[in-house]
Amino acid sequence: MSRSEATQPGPARLDIPLDRPGRTVGALRLPWSHDRSAYGQIVIPVIVINGGPGPTVLCTGGVHGDEYEGPIVLGALARELVPEDIKGRLIIMPTANPPAALASRRTSPIDGGNLARLFPGEASGGPTSQIAEGITRLLLPGADYLLDFHSGGGTLDYLPCAFGRLPADKALAARVLDLLVAFGAPVTAVVKRPEAKGTLVATALDLGVVAMATELGGSGGVTRQTVAIAAAGLRRALAHVGVLTDSASGPASASTPTSASTRLLAVGGEHFLRSPGRGLFAPAFMLGDAVAAGDVAGWLSDPERPERTPEPLHYAADGLVICRRVPTLAEPGDVLVHMGEDTTPDALINGS
Ligand code: ZN
Repeated sequence: MSRSEATQPGPARLDIPLDRPGRTVGALRLPWSHDRSAYGQIVIPVIVINGGPGPTVLCTGGVHGDEYEGPIVLGALARELVPEDIKGRLIIMPTANPPAALASRRTSPIDGGNLARLFPGEASGGPTSQIAEGITRLLLPGADYLLDFHSGGGTLDYLPCAFGRLPADKALAARVLDLLVAFGAPVTAVVKRPEAKGTLVATALDLGVVAMATELGGSGGVTRQTVAIAAAGLRRALAHVGVLTDSASGPASASTPTSASTRLLAVGGEHFLRSPGRGLFAPAFMLGDAVAAGDVAGWLSDPERPERTPEPLHYAADGLVICRRVPTLAEPGDVLVHMGEDTTPDALINGS
């Protein structure tokens, strides 16, 4: 997919130029006619900090409305950073899906759309698809890098991860992996299966943008730890790509760390344990546990048949537990736990 054929021009428009020097505050706007506003709009704040020649980094948060580290740390970055602190340009969209964010929901209350499944978006789609189309058409084409902040949301809890996928192009894959590792989260998870369809990162990679996401916690909230990891990772990533410079002054650079160790994991389909039926899942693990194929992951019990012995569920592979389902009641097909297995950069890039 080339940049020009990503999508037909849609109704979204940007009310600021992206090339103005200095700091510019504006919004991506979409028409949204509804019962309380005949000529209404969905207004998505965008802050551009332009420090002159250098790379462009698009930073997005709040693609899912119940994931909060991104909106918090990107809002802070947009407030604190001054153009003199950087080389290049930051395009910051702390809350990419305001209708979902204001409802504390993963999906949009307007049309039920999941913004992270609708990229590159359709001009004739629903409001959520039109948000995706606007980001793809108006923000991605100028970007060299994308940092898309996610967390587990209300239904998942993650060990804080830099979270990525590697494209088939090895040169681009190597740059993506370097960025993921530079972020320096405690865990760097590279997903091989299941394939991502409709994510902002997938669309960005198709366009040749060096793109990564995060999974920084979840359970529908934040902790001091997850916000700190998000903020430090953001600054490390911006330093890695050369936007935050060593000579920068002011609060934005005062705590810029240079590197952090991370544990590199590969994630495949065999690392996901799904519920075989409806029931209450009692885990046998904690996040961060090392587990082996055949170990008991937990037990599924029937709340309506307490006399029945709970069903033990077993892992299909070895790995480190990085994610658990939060709601105890599970339906058939729900992911109850997923792991990752230790790997190396060479194995990920060259498949050795
Ligand atoms: Zn998300």
